[in-house]
This record gives sequence, structure tokens and C-alpha cells, in this order.
Amino acid sequence: VNYTLSQQVNQNSTFLTNSETIIRNSGRLNKSIIDMQSAFRGYLLTDDDDFLEPYYSSLKEIPTLFKEQSQLVQEYPVHRQRLDSIKVLHQEWIDYANSLISAKKKLGDKGDYETLFNTRFRKQFGQKLNNQISDKFREFDRYEYKVRQVRRETLSESISQTNTYSIIFLGVIICIGAISTIYIVRLISKRIAAMVNVAHNISNGNFVNVEDNQNDELTSLSTSLNIMSATLNKNIRELEKRNNELNQFAYVVSHDLKAPLRGIYNVTQWIEEDLQTELSPSLKRYLNIIPERIARMEGLIDGLLDYARIAREKPLKEYVDVNILVRDIVDDIVPKDTEISIGRLPGFATDKLRLEQVFSNLISNAVKYGSAEHPRIGIDCHELPKFYEFTVSDNGIGIDPGYHDKIFVIFQTLREKNAKESTGIGLAIVKKILDDQHCSIRVESEPGHGSSFIFTWNKN
Ligand code: ADP
Repeated sequence: VNYTLSQQVNQNSTFLTNSETIIRNSGRLNKSIIDMQSAFRGYLLTDDDDFLEPYYSSLKEIPTLFKEQSQLVQEYPVHRQRLDSIKVLHQEWIDYANSLISAKKKLGDKGDYETLFNTRFRKQFGQKLNNQISDKFREFDRYEYKVRQVRRETLSESISQTNTYSIIFLGVIICIGAISTIYIVRLISKRIAAMVNVAHNISNGNFVNVEDNQNDELTSLSTSLNIMSATLNKNIRELEKRNNELNQFAYVVSHDLKAPLRGIYNVTQWIEEDLQTELSPSLKRYLNIIPERIARMEGLIDGLLDYARIAREKPLKEYVDVNILVRDIVDDIVPKDTEISIGRLPGFATDKLRLEQVFSNLISNAVKYGSAEHPRIGIDCHELPKFYEFTVSDNGIGIDPGYHDKIFVIFQTLREKNAKESTGIGLAIVKKILDDQHCSIRVESEPGHGSSFIFTWNKN
């Protein structure tokens, strides 16, 4: 539309330039003709040859002007027609003027000039021709101005039309652009949202796939996501399988070890009973060590069994009043001379067995490693948005910061290896239970200044 308009403007400016030349030429032609007429009249009145100079120079110039003008108005029949009639009238006038001038120049033959003067000049033959020529020029110019006006109006109309079309097209283009942008953005964001959803599911351990039938850059992203999901799924399943096998193995091994242990114990009993009189005192002492070591071995095996059992037993949710749960444990394992302080503990639905295991282990440690003189144990809870944070503290022997991580590793004990009640499994069980549900435990302690075990527990 704009291209067409620019062409129109171009044509119009060419036309205007043309039109101006036509009007200018018309003026020059008209002036030359008038100059000729004035010179002619001046000569007739004064008989002065000087007047004939502009007459002849105009006579020479006028045919060229006519020629130029004819070329410019070639495409306008009305103009051509008018120009032709001006030419004819002017030629007629020249014949008339020339006849009078030549008659006047041949003054000897006076009668001829007189006749012409009286029959033609006096009767305003030339003047009439001049008037007709002037009328024709006026009509010529008027027509040219009219054409120009029509042109101008057409142009301004087409400019306003172009503006209207431009605005309509612009509106349509903006609408199409906006609609297609919204469509594309929706399409893309829908697919990206689907991928985000899949990524979210994967992070929650739900290895689903994203469906995408397109064939573009996003498709390769979704394909990678699907491959990742499948690989993770495969690896996690493999890991779970291995873990189960390991738990199974630990359970079976520790279970089966108990029978031969009992057998060894029985054999030592029999030896003692049958050879009581023959045994040397040192042999008797050695034989007495065996049941102690067997008891420790049994302790370790039981610990291992407990550890392996965590994974075997399905979590069971029930309402737990932690206050009651803790008090029951305290009643069972804390000696009466220990000062107990229990803060506000919550009640909520959770896996009671495992929470009980955690508290039992921590409270029994607080007893085992508590102060010998004025033992004091504190149990408290602090509520966080998603967790409860429980603290079990004592005023016992404390732990060197260098061992704060080590104590949670299975079979790691800071006590003498043979101590009967120290197997190094309690805190490993606590850690495993908490790890399984993505909770944490930390210890704050200094040797001789007691210990605080702080762990989180999922509210949900
Ligand atoms: P065990 O108590 O059978 O040795 P644990 O895994 O329960 O095994 O504890 C590991 C070690 O951590 C213990 O041997 C002990 O040295 C240290 N420990 C645990 N609880 C406390 C505590 N409340 N105060 C001081 N030391 C502790």
C-alpha cells in the first residue's frame, strides 16, 4: 500500500513539475505574443523602426515556444486543441500585422496602407484576434490549474486511504502477532511446565516420563529428561535391591551366628562341670573369660539384628503422644536417683516404633554416660515449620569434638572394647532411622560438660 502511495506521490511531483513548466511556458508565450502586439502598435503609431526590433525577435522566438509547449502537452488533447487554435489565431494575426507593416514601409504606395489601415486596423481586426488569443490563454491556464487541483485532491484522498489501510493492516498484524505470540508462549510454557513437573516428580523419587510428540529443541530436552528418569529409576531399583539383599544378609548371618555361639557356651560349661577338679587355676580363669566374651558377641549380634530389622519392618503410622512415650522409656531405663526434666512434647501421627527406638537409644546413652554424682537428663522439643526438633541432654562425661561424627558410625565406641554394654550400635541405629526419613542429628558436647543430642523428626 505504501509502495503504491509512494509511486503516486512520485507521479504527482513529476506532474507538478511538468505543470509548472507548462504554466511558465504559457506565460512566456503569451508575453511574447503581447510584446509583438505592443511593438506592432507602437510602430504603427510612431513610425519608429525601433519598435520593430522586439516584434521580430518575438516572431523568431514564438515558434520555438510553441514547439516546446506542444511537446509538454502531448498527453492532453484539450490542451493540444487549444494550443493549435492559438497557433492558428496568432498566424492569422501575424499575416495581418505583416501586411500592415510592409504596406507602411512602402510609403510611396500610400493608398494601399491607408486602405488596410481603414478596413482592418480601424475596424479592430487585430484587436479581436488578440482578445481571442488572450481568452484562449486564459482557458488554457484555467484548465491546467483545474487538472492540477483534481490531481491534488486525488493524491490527498489516496494518502488518507493509505493511512486508513495502513492502520487497519497494522491492527491486523498486531493482532496476529499477539495471538501467535500468546499461542507459542502457551505451547512452550505448557511443555516446559510438563517438564518441570516431571523433574519435580523425579526429585520426589517418582520416575515418570514426559510425553512430547513435537520435533524441536524442547523435544531433545524432554528426551534427555526421560532418559535421565529411566536411568535413575533403574539405578535406584538396583540400589534398593542391593540394600535389601544386604539387610537380608546381615539379618541371616547375625541370626545364624547365635546358635554356634550358644554351642560354644554350652561346651565351656560342660568342660567346667566335667573337669572341675582337674582344671588348673589359670585354665579356670580362661574358661571364665569365654562366657563374658560370648555375652559381648551376643550383644553385638543383637545390635546388628536390630540394625538390620529397621529396614525389614514396615513403618506404621499411629497417633503418638511423645510425652507419654518418653515418660514410659524414662520409667523403664532411668534410675530413680536421676533428675529428669521433660519440656512440652507434642502429640502427632507418626511411626511410633522408630521414634521410640531413637529416644530409647539416646536416653539409655544419657544414663550410661551420665554424671556419676548428680545425674541429670533433659528432654525438650522445639517446633519448626516442617519438623519437630527434639533435644536429649545430660550432664555426663561429654564427648571430644573430634569424635562428634565418628560416634554415629556402626561399631564405633569410645569406651573400652570389652565393656559389656557398649557395642557401638545404638547411635548407628538412630542415624539410620533419621537418614531413612531425611531427618538429621547433631551433637553438642565438650568433655566433662555433658552432651546434647539434637535431632529433627518429620511432622508429616
Ligand atoms: P554404645 O553406647 O553401645 O557404645 P553408641 O552408638 O550408642 O554405642 O554410642 C557410641 C559412642 O558414643 C559411645 O561409645 C560413647 O562413647 C559415645 N556417646 C554416646 N552417647 C553419649 C553421651 N550421652 N555422652 C557421652 N558419650 C556418649
